[in-house]
Amino acid sequence: MKAVIFHGKGDVRVETVPDPGIEHPTDAVVRITTSAICGSDLHPYHGRIGVGDVFPIGHEFVGVVEAVGPEVRGVRPGDRVVAPFSVSCGACWYCRNRLPSQCATTGRGVFGMGKRRGSFPGGQAEFVRVPFAGHMLEPFALGLTDEQMIFLADILPTGYFCAENGGIRPGDTVALFGCGPVGLCALMAAQLFGPAEVLAVDRVPYRLDAARALGAVPLDAGQTDAIAAIQHRTGGRGADVALEAVGHESALTLALQAARPGGTVSAVGVYAEEAYAFPIGQSFVKGVTFRMGTCPARNYIRQLMPLLAAGRLDPTRLITHRLPLAAAPEGYQIFDRKEENAIKVLLKP
Ligand code: NAD
Ligand code: ZN
Repeated sequence: MKAVIFHGKGDVRVETVPDPGIEHPTDAVVRITTSAICGSDLHPYHGRIGVGDVFPIGHEFVGVVEAVGPEVRGVRPGDRVVAPFSVSCGACWYCRNRLPSQCATTGRGVFGMGKRRGSFPGGQAEFVRVPFAGHMLEPFALGLTDEQMIFLADILPTGYFCAENGGIRPGDTVALFGCGPVGLCALMAAQLFGPAEVLAVDRVPYRLDAARALGAVPLDAGQTDAIAAIQHRTGGRGADVALEAVGHESALTLALQAARPGGTVSAVGVYAEEAYAFPIGQSFVKGVTFRMGTCPARNYIRQLMPLLAAGRLDPTRLITHRLPLAAAPEGYQIFDRKEENAIKVLLKP
């Protein structure tokens, strides 16, 4: 099959590799019909996170079940399915306690993220082996499309998790840092909780335009002092809730500065570094609540599907590029360099 193989910093190539097969009785093989490039794929692409191995990268995919092992229950060949990006067994202590992204069996597995995330070949490919398929795979609800369902693999649950962890209450002022695909999903999810306004911070004008189109007040951090602007709009208090969807020290610091006394900071940006500077004195004085982590996406797929079906969440408006799998290297470059007003880039095998 053809697959996107990660070779090192800035170097992804489409190559022919062996087709995956059933290795364990609980496996399924899925023929991928749509996959996507994620901001998380940019961390290895930038050399920030080592993934070591060169097997297929990619953790956002939907497709059709091609084959199932003898112990797979609940999905059959021919079913259209989505899988969450993190690989979980469904049976360990963490999985039974709604923490599938902490799965002990898979070692916090993630598709296509190399040895440090359990060595699971990824889904920017024609086929993928899905372990624990009866637990992992969710069949599409009737009428939903690939382009809706692929958002349930990662970024819509992650955006929802970010907003939910913020504890947004009706009338709150929310500050959002990062208007990439994940931040914009967090914005859409935040709107479900009834904030008075969402102040969306980024430095990329077209992404700020996308945030405005989703009902936020855009703040260009390249042009204005975002913290001063947030203070100004909240009577000097700061945001009730600050959401961080970047994964960089600068944004995390801003989010902690933006939160009002007694406010909450919810971070979903990826941090691979062992330690970071953290404005801990100011956060202590303000009594900030801080929540972060890998989204337990498996928990949200069934909850969010009806919102897609009802049109209350429409992440398809974030899709800017639909490229053949063979064009993956161009897709990475366009997404990384924010060319052609790129937001979400899909790859179609
Ligand atoms: P992206 O790189 O496309 O978007 C990041 C955005 O942040 C860009 O628009 C950039 O201009 C903006 N930005 C950079 N520095 C900023 C700053 N100081 N203030 C405000 N904005 C700033 O990526 P994405 O796909 O949207 O993903 C965002 C983050 O979410 C990544 O770190 C990704 O790894 C992470 N992520 C986490 C989870 C999880 O489970 N926690 C899941 C998916 C993605
Ligand atoms: Zn992702």
